[in-house]
Amino acid sequence: MSQFSMAQAKRIIVKVGSSLVTNNGRGLDRAAITGWAEQMAALKKAGKEIILVSSGSIAEGIKRLGWAERPKEMQELQAAAAVGQMGLVQAYETSFSEQGLQTAQVLLTHEDLSDRHRYLNARSALRTLLKWNVVPIINENDTVTTEEIKFGDNDTLGALVANLLEADVLILLTDQNGLYTADPRRDAQATLLDEAQAGDAALEAMAGGAGSSIGKGGMLTKVLAAKRAARSGASTIIANGREENVLLRLAANEKIGTRLVARMVPLLARKQWIADHLQVAGQLFLDDGAVRAVVREGKSLLAIGVVRSEGSFNRGEVVACCNEQGQEIARGLVNYHADGVQKILGQPSNKIGEILGHLEEPELIHRDNLVLTQNNNITFD
Ligand code: GLU
Repeated sequence: MSQFSMAQAKRIIVKVGSSLVTNNGRGLDRAAITGWAEQMAALKKAGKEIILVSSGSIAEGIKRLGWAERPKEMQELQAAAAVGQMGLVQAYETSFSEQGLQTAQVLLTHEDLSDRHRYLNARSALRTLLKWNVVPIINENDTVTTEEIKFGDNDTLGALVANLLEADVLILLTDQNGLYTADPRRDAQATLLDEAQAGDAALEAMAGGAGSSIGKGGMLTKVLAAKRAARSGASTIIANGREENVLLRLAANEKIGTRLVARMVPLLARKQWIADHLQVAGQLFLDDGAVRAVVREGKSLLAIGVVRSEGSFNRGEVVACCNEQGQEIARGLVNYHADGVQKILGQPSNKIGEILGHLEEPELIHRDNLVLTQNNNITFD
């Protein structure tokens, strides 16, 4: 298992569950929200990037509408979410602005993250918010989702956001202490699991069934979310959000709750994912200088070193990098659409904005998104 140090994590996704944020459905727990906002502000001051994923819109909507129980009809759930989301973001905005921090509401659907264009748009907008030091507050866009296109629960959404932003850690705050070896309500022998490897199949058996009636996610969704987060190298911590200063103590490497550790560090996981692509969407042919820069000097690929491009790839797709003789030397995620690449071939990076009318990135393929594949031996640097 890779050594996981919470103290070293830079980009952190914090997910807060419905029961926790709405005080078990009794109404928004403002004191708790203020406490988390204070802790997140302190973490930001210490140089961490924080993205908040919060559930609670439906639970809060139900409370505000004065209903005794959760409605069953889809349109009523969608409408309740619209009512509750108002309260949810208002509460967060108030608490974060007391800390001098701006917030941004981001509502996503499953379709947004499965469509390549919308995925890249969401990623660029979220990265921009982080650059501006704004705290994104994400929830599922419950008002427009139906059963078929739902993430279904915010644990999964949190994991997908961890993948999207290549986060280091996903913290799932819940009203339970972590993952137990069995359901503690039924089995007196159940003990809290301290640490395990994310994706270990035994965890799914342990977690099966234990859940809450307020939100959608139980322990099983958390274990599955950890498995998903680990694909991009993020480790997951499941901890009790009511624990005093839980985020600060976790950041100081205190062992609270359950850690589901990713096998690979994020960068390596992403490179593995790139290397795993069986098919490439296109080919870039590099001059000798660019081949040397990429292979020997560990540099990013710049447009100036590319002599020819083939294929109709989109921005963010995997392309092969070949030498002028056509031999593949590397693979990477390309920052420009094929048509754009044709126009900037052989051009210096500072001309890209002028030629295309916009600048996505100065590199054609950033080093972090480039894997050497020379002689069919995948090497990670
Ligand atoms: N998006 C839903 C809400 O805000 C919650 C889903 C969940 O409980 O995980 O109410």
